[in-house]
Amino acid sequence: MPQPPKQNNPTQPEESTGPEMDVNAQTSSEPIDLISFTTEAYRNVVAATRNCNAFPQGAARSLYLSYPGYARMLEEQSQRVLGLINKVLKTENISGDIKRRQGDEQLEMVQECNDILFERITTNLDIISGLRRGNPHMVVETQVDVQSTSRPATSTITKETPRAGSWNRYSTAPGTPSRSMVSARLFTAQNIMRPQMQFKVPVDNSAQNPFKPRLKEKPNSLKPLALLPEYDDAGNVVSFLHPYEFELLKFEPPKEQLQKQKPLLPAPPAQTELMLVDNVETLKQALEELRQAPQIAIDVEHHSYRTFMGITCLVQMSTRTKDYIFDTLTLREDMHILNLVLTDPKVLKILHGGDLDIEWLQRDLSLYIVNMFDTHRAAKALNMARLSLAFLLKHYLDLDVDKSLQLADWRMRPLPQKLIDYARQDTHYLIYVYERLTNDLLQAEQGQPQALRMVYQMSTEVCKKRYTKPHIGPDSHLDLVRKTKRSFDNRQLCALRGIFLWRDATARQEDESYGYVLPNHMMLQIAESLPREMQGILACCNPIPPLVRQQLHTLHQIVLRAREQPLVKPLLEASNITGSVLLQTTNKDYNSKLNCPHDFSHQEETRDDLPTLLGRNGSGKLQRPSKPKLEAPSVPLVAPTLSLFKRQTASTQEEQLRWLCARKESQTLRMPYKRYMAILPLMQQQKIEQTAKENNELLKRRLCPAEPAPVNIKLESTTKVDEDPIYKLPLKEQLKRKHQPTAEQPSLAKRNKNEEKPSASVSGPKPKIKSEPMPAIDQTPNGEDSDDDAVIEVPIEKSATENPTPALSRRQQKRQEKNKRFKAKARMQAQSSNKPVQLPTNTATAQNFDYKNVDFRQFQGGAKRAQSTEIKSQMRGKSRHNNRNNKQFNKLFTFSKINKERKK
Ligand code: AMP
Ligand code: MN
Ligand code: ZN
Repeated sequence: MPQPPKQNNPTQPEESTGPEMDVNAQTSSEPIDLISFTTEAYRNVVAATRNCNAFPQGAARSLYLSYPGYARMLEEQSQRVLGLINKVLKTENISGDIKRRQGDEQLEMVQECNDILFERITTNLDIISGLRRGNPHMVVETQVDVQSTSRPATSTITKETPRAGSWNRYSTAPGTPSRSMVSARLFTAQNIMRPQMQFKVPVDNSAQNPFKPRLKEKPNSLKPLALLPEYDDAGNVVSFLHPYEFELLKFEPPKEQLQKQKPLLPAPPAQTELMLVDNVETLKQALEELRQAPQIAIDVEHHSYRTFMGITCLVQMSTRTKDYIFDTLTLREDMHILNLVLTDPKVLKILHGGDLDIEWLQRDLSLYIVNMFDTHRAAKALNMARLSLAFLLKHYLDLDVDKSLQLADWRMRPLPQKLIDYARQDTHYLIYVYERLTNDLLQAEQGQPQALRMVYQMSTEVCKKRYTKPHIGPDSHLDLVRKTKRSFDNRQLCALRGIFLWRDATARQEDESYGYVLPNHMMLQIAESLPREMQGILACCNPIPPLVRQQLHTLHQIVLRAREQPLVKPLLEASNITGSVLLQTTNKDYNSKLNCPHDFSHQEETRDDLPTLLGRNGSGKLQRPSKPKLEAPSVPLVAPTLSLFKRQTASTQEEQLRWLCARKESQTLRMPYKRYMAILPLMQQQKIEQTAKENNELLKRRLCPAEPAPVNIKLESTTKVDEDPIYKLPLKEQLKRKHQPTAEQPSLAKRNKNEEKPSASVSGPKPKIKSEPMPAIDQTPNGEDSDDDAVIEVPIEKSATENPTPALSRRQQKRQEKNKRFKAKARMQAQSSNKPVQLPTNTATAQNFDYKNVDFRQFQGGAKRAQSTEIKSQMRGKSRHNNRNNKQFNKLFTFSKINKERKK
């Protein structure tokens, strides 16, 4: 019984915490009851340890245990202790019953629990010390060149997010070497306090409750404030209507905004007043000033890594004469008073790519905008080469702005001067840009405001956007798999689903982003490798996310559960995956932020960097290049003459003629029914021959019994040999045919993969393949009685772009002979046992030839040449695996061709 170590164990770590907590208690001025509590706890722990050590050990223990009373007592107490430990484990969500585990595992569980507790203690201590520190943060700054990527999955991307909206994720400044590489400065600080901790209204990350606007007053309203819920079929509230929906619906841009503007270049930031707004007094003052302004430029800075839904950290505004920076972390609950100007339809608000800004403003600050001009939309309407703000600033002001601080940690407080300067430039010039864009839009339409109206309309649509919480469906994890293009079996998918759900729940609970809890690539790695040990999970992560370390046990359980799943059909084929995904995605939430099928933001903005022949005129508009006159090619097109075996002679005129005919023939479209009709007589004839042959053989076998057939012959490969008619002939006739060259059908052996004219010679010489004796099957007989033979061979011959080698056909012949014998035997057996042997009669031709040697793509090639889309689609429509269909089709196709030729 491993009791003593077990009992000792939980006490040991606590011993180590003792002094630590003591120190903390002493240095802090916490209430006295905490100190007395820890002192008391410490005393108890020491006493428990002493008592444990007092238990008899070694030989003495064995001796004591021989007393049933002692053994019983010990057992009872250890069960009690284990029960207590179990309760502690449960509080930390460690699943499993410690009483049922072996010693090692028990130890592991306890260690796991301790880890979690320690982690929490350290985090809490950090937070407390961060709170108390009060001195400026240690700013950490690193320059990295990163491949431009899309935003983390947590961020609030919507389908309508403009591709090059406000992101400016490409360094657009001239002289930047590569556009796909972004020079990002990681500008953050150590020990940034979580701003969520100080929010007066805690964030609600739950998936069940939809986002509810927190607007209390509605200035500039045409309809009184009403937060109208929307319900789903089950009667649950799924969302709330936009508070300013009606006002936005009624909005018409004022006349002045549809007229030509007088662009006024702003003074440089250094000579412009800046107001840092971080308390209610200055906020009120700013509001009064802003009410006087006819236009306000607005931008928002946001943080999305250490939060689930995101936090609006900063709002910048600019009038013509003044810049404002609002600390929205401290003014989170007060900013809504700015609705007085923001929803005023007479005051123009200018944003660049405001899709997300609109959502962030309403989510965190209850701010809404009526009368907005989106400079990104305007640039798009003008068909400008790039749509980023940096480009517009370069274009209209010849300003090279540095956007590398875009991803700075905007939670930093006090805000470093660098970030203030950076944030300012996002709005400082925006009014001027708006004026220039307005004029350009009017100019583009010869003074008519249609395009301008369109921009206002689109901007108003942006204002109507409603924030919705991130949401995952039951199959969201499959989207991830599809994106990575890996194939997962059911165990891996099960693990992925489990981890995905765990990540979602953890992120919501801990108010962290998915990227912080467990980045996608690590999650996929864990699900793919399904580590048996906890250590294996950690090995999939580098660096190990803190929450993964903390909840390693939970993750391990998910993986173990997935490993226990019986392995079912692996989803190896791409078609399979897409098929299943297609089916499953039908019930996913298309409103989800995670569902961005048209989100191309991770791709490059195609219009941005493609070299074109287009030049620019003075106004920045694209000009068509003068068209260079392209000469029609005077040289006739010649098919490539790639051939494996050199042709011995130039093609004769006759041959060419034949080729032409064959080509023409292949170009005529024949409907399936006609094809069917065309082969009917042949089929009948073949049927008759088939029966005759069978009877003949039967007779032969009866006279002299068949040799034992090889055991390992596969039934499906039993080809009803197409030379059967030959073989049933006397040997003399067979030989005769063998050496009879055919005018109509060249031999199979002649088929050449890359032959320029596949159907080639009518009377032309055959390529010599010395090593291969010409088997009878390859020779197409001339006589009428062997028409079917000819017919079968020709198609492959005709459009042969690929052919079985002669060696193959010899092997094939051998096999056919074997099969013939085998089949005959089978037939004999069937007769004796009265069991019908399935010998297909009308599919005889399909079986006469070993289609395994035929590349069916050749027909597609022929169809391509003939540009017959019908044939092409027919061929494509067939599954590759559905060979039988292909055979049928080939047969029909072939016969029609031959028939025509013979008529000719
Ligand atoms: P901007 O409008 O360019 O100032 O960007 C506003 C906010 O969007 C920034 O504060 C960032 O939080 C976020 N953001 C911009 N670009 C990216 C990006 N490439 N990836 C992630 N977040 C971004
Ligand atoms: Mn922006
Ligand atoms: Zn910005």
